[in-house]
Amino acid sequence: MQNYHKMLENNRAWAARVLKDDTGYFGRHEAGQRPHFFFIGCCDSRVPAELLLGAGPGELFTYRNIANQAHPNDLGMLSALEYAVEFLDVKHVMVCGHHGCGGVKAAMGPHGHGVVDHWLHVVRDVYRWHEEELEALPDDVARTHRMVELNVIEQVFQLSRTPVVQRAWAKGQRPILHGLVYDLHDGLLNELVTGVDSDEKARLLGARVTSRSMPQRT
Ligand SMILES: [Zn+2]
Repeated sequence: MQNYHKMLENNRAWAARVLKDDTGYFGRHEAGQRPHFFFIGCCDSRVPAELLLGAGPGELFTYRNIANQAHPNDLGMLSALEYAVEFLDVKHVMVCGHHGCGGVKAAMGPHGHGVVDHWLHVVRDVYRWHEEELEALPDDVARTHRMVELNVIEQVFQLSRTPVVQRAWAKGQRPILHGLVYDLHDGLLNELVTGVDSDEKARLLGARVTSRSMPQRT
């Protein structure tokens, strides 16, 4: 319990420090939020969204899950996306993966991890589509790095297929979609995909990450 109580002490010290520097800070947040970014990241404790982007409270609307997925059956993600796009009017949606992702690694091997095996089925598909390219890489680290990238691209594509994003684009509205990978080695974000703001661009992206042919719009 010692570590737990230390966390609460940290909280009290933080709140006091913030108030000392800016007496109106909490009052402004009480009034509401107006973030410009929706960040979809992994649960991994080493990838703290606000810290690595230099963002403060109120700047990022966030949703995190194992292997940073924009899962088409995840009502939590879809609800957060709908709220972010239709009510908060966020300008950008970022999918952020990271090197050394345990979720991605689990999806590259045999089953046996428990419930998460179900959750990772989209990531497993990505692996299957690219198995030849991945197996040709020199070692597991290189394979995982590449899989992390492919997964981010696929998740941006999955986002583009959601009714929320499709509806917004059809009306000529935001958001702009981006895919990034956080490098645990140097703390840098590498931009894999950026500026996806139309169905046309999303379809090109879909063709890039998979060999599937995209259905024509009717
Ligand atoms: Zn991860």
